Amino acid sequence: YLKIDNIKKSYGTGDSRVDVLKGINCGVNKGEICVLLGPSGSGKSTLLNILGGIDKADSGSVTIGEDKIENFNDKQLSQYRRKHLGYIFQSYNLVPNLTVRENIEVGAYLSDKPLPIDELIELLGLEAHKNKRPNQLSGGQQQRTSIGRAIVKNPDLLLCDEPTGALDYNTSKEILKLIEDINNKYGSTIVIVTHNVAISQMAHQVINLHDGRIRSDEKNNNRLAAELIEW
Ligand code: ATP
Ligand code: MG
Repeated sequence: YLKIDNIKKSYGTGDSRVDVLKGINCGVNKGEICVLLGPSGSGKSTLLNILGGIDKADSGSVTIGEDKIENFNDKQLSQYRRKHLGYIFQSYNLVPNLTVRENIEVGAYLSDKPLPIDELIELLGLEAHKNKRPNQLSGGQQQRTSIGRAIVKNPDLLLCDEPTGALDYNTSKEILKLIEDINNKYGSTIVIVTHNVAISQMAHQVINLHDGRIRSDEKNNNRLAAELIEW
């Protein structure tokens, strides 16, 4: 469903040039969960932004279903982002002058198959906060709101960048369970950057980014999982 062919991306020029992605090849089947692991600065957010059509690769190709996103014109790209994509950003990117409920509603308006908003607000434990604005919320509450905004669209492809980074262990577990439920119930394809071992274990595929390339052999996955458990 999602196919990534030889994606390369560098930032800067001359001496300050950094080759972040040096030829990434991978694929994710429809309805599967793919976890993206890698040290800080290894290019996880960069790759996710390329998949989301927010950033452009220098070369290579991303195919979603039948379409190559680098061939989209501006209108098709915006259509793709609005209708088919849910994006949970590492920084929450909430609209500051909208309430929690209104921020989630934005997602619902964009979708032609939105999930019931109030049910979702309850699932996310935001019932008591739904009329507050982002600056009146804790980090975890903001994070849950941004998860709600992405999930309410019931997107075909859900891209999540450290969706539980700011949450305590139990809340993280609940959110990850919610993402897994969405995947089971609606068959959304999910790419998720997370160091959370629980979600790596439920993933259909784990990809390790390292030095701009993928290391994804089974043994390595097990070793990395063991390292994470030791932390
Ligand atoms: P983290 O786990 O800390 O979020 P990451 O794997 O998501 O890290 P990226 O944000 O993709 O890493 O960044 C990869 C590299 O690219 C870093 O060295 C970063 O400094 C650099 N980089 C990212 N965005 C830009 C940009 N817009 N301009 C210049 N350099 C950038
Ligand atoms: Mg990142």
